[in-house]
Amino acid sequence: MSKALLDPDEPNPVRLEREAGSSVFFLTCDHAGRAFPRRLGTLGLPQSSTERHIAWDIGIGGVGRELSRLLDAAVILQTYSRLVVDCNRDPEVASSISEVSETTEIPGNQGLDETDRRLRVDAIFRPYHDAIATALDRRAAAGRACVLVALHSFTPVFKGVSRPWHVAVLFNRDARLAHPLAELLRAEGDLIVGENEPYRVSDLTDYTVPVHGERRGLPHVEIEIRQDLIANTDGQRSWSERLARLLPAAYAEFLRR
Ligand SMILES: [Zn+2]
Repeated sequence: MSKALLDPDEPNPVRLEREAGSSVFFLTCDHAGRAFPRRLGTLGLPQSSTERHIAWDIGIGGVGRELSRLLDAAVILQTYSRLVVDCNRDPEVASSISEVSETTEIPGNQGLDETDRRLRVDAIFRPYHDAIATALDRRAAAGRACVLVALHSFTPVFKGVSRPWHVAVLFNRDARLAHPLAELLRAEGDLIVGENEPYRVSDLTDYTVPVHGERRGLPHVEIEIRQDLIANTDGQRSWSERLARLLPAAYAEFLRR
């Protein structure tokens, strides 16, 4: 008999807040947390590594919760480090559980067998995505319009290369909301705005937007904010205020087009 990965007293992988909020927006933070299941320790990493961007999206949980408050929008946050299992990857792809992240080898992720992988997926990935699906089904059943906003942060320097962007708007098959949002961000005048850079949405590198946005036909956008801009609460507040202003404007533009 296989044991569950998480003991009952460990944190729930899913934190869903303001589910009954009045806003059309539904916010996700796949990489909000940096908890590790007790059974896995810190995957053999020193504590300092578990505080770096390889473990989580620095600052995004604070932005997600503050934006949720400002918009009166539902937000769902994932509690565990992406190094345990990446909740924005199809569990079938190799990078779902990375053996190396950027240039750091993850000792506890080497040579996992199918059972090890399934324990992580079943304990963390499934409940998180089931909670999103259930919440979106409920809204659809209630006849509510819904717009999916996937929130992430990115490191200013990756593999030694500096990145100029303050913020990036990412999409794949459907840019109906992403384009107007990118235009509005550029119109702010003080931002370098990436459009599908430094990342783009794809079925191999993403899960939340392809599955919950594209497949349901919901308007959606993935937003990446440079992590140093939202590392403290002042930055998180000012970025939340900016997005609380621009997202409804972008949605209004989407409805007009
Ligand atoms: Zn992320």
